[in-house]
Amino acid sequence: MEKSSKSRSLSKSKSNDNYANYNNKKKRSNSYSKNTPNWLSARLEQLSEIGGYQKPELVAGALKLDSNENYAISKQFQSDIIIAARREADVREYPLGGTDRLTSAISKAIKMPASMIAVGNGSDQILDLLLGHLIQNKKKTIRILTSDPTFGFFEDRCRLYDIPLIRVPFTDGMKLDASAFIDAAKNANVIYIDSPNNPTGFQFSKSQMQKIIRNFDHGLVIIDEAYGEFGDYTISGMTRKHDNLLVVRTLSKSFGLAGLRLGYMVADKRITATFTDVIQYPYPLSTITIEAGIEAVKRMPQIQETAKMLKAERARIISTLSEHDAFEVFESNANFVLFDARGSYKRIHSALAEQGISIRRLGKVGKYQGCLRVTVGTREMNSRFLLAIRDLLG
Ligand SMILES: *Cc1c(COP(=O)(O)O)cnc(C)c1O
Repeated sequence: MEKSSKSRSLSKSKSNDNYANYNNKKKRSNSYSKNTPNWLSARLEQLSEIGGYQKPELVAGALKLDSNENYAISKQFQSDIIIAARREADVREYPLGGTDRLTSAISKAIKMPASMIAVGNGSDQILDLLLGHLIQNKKKTIRILTSDPTFGFFEDRCRLYDIPLIRVPFTDGMKLDASAFIDAAKNANVIYIDSPNNPTGFQFSKSQMQKIIRNFDHGLVIIDEAYGEFGDYTISGMTRKHDNLLVVRTLSKSFGLAGLRLGYMVADKRITATFTDVIQYPYPLSTITIEAGIEAVKRMPQIQETAKMLKAERARIISTLSEHDAFEVFESNANFVLFDARGSYKRIHSALAEQGISIRRLGKVGKYQGCLRVTVGTREMNSRFLLAIRDLLG
C-alpha cells in the first residue's frame, strides 16, 4: 500500500510514533446534518473510531525514502508500458476478457497455471476482499494469527471487520521464532504472514515457512509476498499441493508500479475462480491497468536485475549504518532497512527532513524504542542519505 497523500497534512506526523498506534483514531465532528438518520450517524461514528491508514506526508521535491517505492525502475520502463497500453486500449469499451489476458501473461512470467491466478486493484484490495467476503467473521469464530508488528493495512482491515488477531511478537534482533508461531497456530483458523515482513524486513527461512504451512492443515494460510522479489524465495509453488494456501503479490514494489494499482494472488483454482467470478465485481481493473500490466510482466528479467542491484545496495546501507554505534541495524529481505536510533531518532528524522530527505519514523517496534525505516533507492539516493547520516553523527 504505502501511498502518498496529495494533500499535505502537517499535524499528523507528530503523533504516529508508536507503530501500534500507527493509525491514530481521528476524532471527527459530531455535527452531522439534521437529516442524517440515527443509525447512519452511529455507524459513521463507529467507523471514524476505527481510523484509517496514515499516509506519509507529501513534501514536494523531497528524496522519498519513506514508502518502499522503487526508484531504480526507470522512467523509461514506465513510459514503455504506458505507451504500449495506450496503443492497445480502447476505453470506450468495458474491459471484456481483459483480465484473462493479464492472468495468462502473469502465468507465463511466474510459471504457474493461469487458473491459479486472480488479479485485483492492488494487493491491498485483494486482502480487503478476502477478509470481508472469503474469511468473514459473522459467527465470531475467526482468529487470525500474525506477527507483532505486521502489515498496518491488514491490521486496520481486521479491525474494520471485527476479526481478532493473535500476535507473535518479534524477539531480540527483530526475528520471529517459527516454533512459537506453530504453537500459537493451534488457536487460530487463519494465518497471515507478510514475507518479508513490513516494517522489519524479516523473512522466515524457506524450510521454516514450509513447516509452518505443513503444520497448519486446519485453516487458511495467507502469505503476503509484496517484497518477495527482494527476499530469498517465493512460496507460491506450494499452492499446487496445498489448497489452503493463498499467496498475494503485487507490482507496486519490485516493478515500481505503486501508482498503477495492480496485485494478484496465487491459490487453488477453487479460490481464484470464486474470487474472480463472485467476490470481485465484473471489471475490477481499468483497461489501462490491464494493458500496462501485460507489458510489465513481460519484462520480468529486467525486474530481477533491478532487484539484484537493490539487494546489493541494501547490504551497503546495512553495513554503513552498522558502523555507527548509535544504531542497531536489522537484517532485511525487503527493499528497506529498519534500524533503531534509540533516543536520537526524532532528531535524526527531522534533521534529514530539513535536508529534504524523507524516511519513515516508527518509534517503538517491539522492544526497540527509536525505530526508523529507510527505503533502498538508487545508488545516488542511498549515498545522499548515508552521507547526511554521517554528517549528522559527526
Ligand atoms: C506495500 C505492501 C503491499 C502492497 O499493496 P498494493 O496495494 O499492492 O500496493 C502489500 N503488503 C505489504 C506487506 C506491503 O508492505
